[in-house]
Amino acid sequence: MSVTTPSYEARSKSLKEFDPEVFDLIQKETERQEYGLEMIPSENFVSEAVLQAMGSTLTNKYAEGQPGKRYYGGCHVVDDVENLASARVCELFGAEFANLQPHSGVQANQAVFEAFLKPGDTFMGLRLDQGGHLSHGSPVNFSGMHYKVVAYGVRESDNLIDPDQVRSLAKEHKPKLIIAGASAYSRQIDWKLFREVADEIGAIFMADIAHYSGLVAGGSYESPIPYADIVTTTTHKTLRGPRSGMVMGKEKHRKAINKAIFPGLQGGPHMHTIAAKAVMAKEALTTDFKTYAAAIVANAKALSEGLVKRGLKIVSGGTDSHLLLVDLRPIGVSGKIGEAVLDKVGITVNKNTVPFDPQPPSICSGVRLGTPAVTTRGMGVAEMSLVADFIFEALTNVENESKLKSVADNVRELSKKFPLYRHRLVR
Ligand SMILES: *Cc1c(COP(=O)(O)O)cnc(C)c1O
Repeated sequence: MSVTTPSYEARSKSLKEFDPEVFDLIQKETERQEYGLEMIPSENFVSEAVLQAMGSTLTNKYAEGQPGKRYYGGCHVVDDVENLASARVCELFGAEFANLQPHSGVQANQAVFEAFLKPGDTFMGLRLDQGGHLSHGSPVNFSGMHYKVVAYGVRESDNLIDPDQVRSLAKEHKPKLIIAGASAYSRQIDWKLFREVADEIGAIFMADIAHYSGLVAGGSYESPIPYADIVTTTTHKTLRGPRSGMVMGKEKHRKAINKAIFPGLQGGPHMHTIAAKAVMAKEALTTDFKTYAAAIVANAKALSEGLVKRGLKIVSGGTDSHLLLVDLRPIGVSGKIGEAVLDKVGITVNKNTVPFDPQPPSICSGVRLGTPAVTTRGMGVAEMSLVADFIFEALTNVENESKLKSVADNVRELSKKFPLYRHRLVR
């Protein structure tokens, strides 16, 4: 007699049948994504193929270890999946090795700290309030809690990373690791500078391209691969893959990185996500993706110019990438209010400090805008001019409800012209 708990019938029910509550919430979120303008630079919309790989039976499999050297049986299929994903990623970036197991961008960074530093060792990263990331030394993150941080910043005159400061801090503090990379820095990072400085003091140079990796893959932002010992990235930002991370680098560091990730930090890799990363890399290897990456940057430049034309101030005067930081001080609006009022009209952004911000991080003086997601929907420079108008109108009419209502209507109309997942909306 077979035990049937839960029964095959119960397990075979669709989400809609079995759990209408969760199904409904997913529908609501799909609707939110479909009928608004997503302008958070770290967000994007994955393809159906990526979604399918993530929702696959590969989630059932334990595969601790490396392909061919697992701690579990039954791994021959997922071995092929992981080898395929790594090979594609190495081809895409020209990397000597890739480890696709990190669960997220921060886990990828943590692996590098584990591989090269001991607690208490010194490293250098970009200041969080001038564009850096939490995992580059924030006191509330493992990186700032367990290691000694020396933070470099941007120049007050042009808001660009100050190469003299990077070099002099490195010489003074002799960090073991130097991190270049950012979450809110719109300009090209000078990877060669960091390589030179690292060589001058014998440090490891890690580039974190969490934000730029899709642009790098598509040839629209200079690659750090030739310069850096190690390159980490998320896979869900401009690269438009599943929510996850990965580490790439020079062959001589492969063992140390692999060991740091497993057994150092993680247990079983998420094979369904690794399969989705393989799909992501296949998409990113197409000429369409090159066109996409170039369009992201063209759109960000057009948006920046549109906002400048209307009298807004952009940090560093513009952008070389997918993102821009708008300094709202000239119009007397805080980042917090800017984020809230744009949310009200259906434009999703996040508040952000501007360099040398007089406001605390909970208020901020700026908002960060990005074009990867709207570019995925097919919008181009003509639409960016409309979007610049919407943003300007909303930000300069924060208390005018009827004006905000009309901007919201325009946002919804525009989003309807660029269908996203509409066929997934089944209500
Ligand atoms: C987004 C980001 C990360 C972290 O990625 P998660 O997947 O959220 O952990 C790391 N570094 C930089 C520079 C980022 O912008």
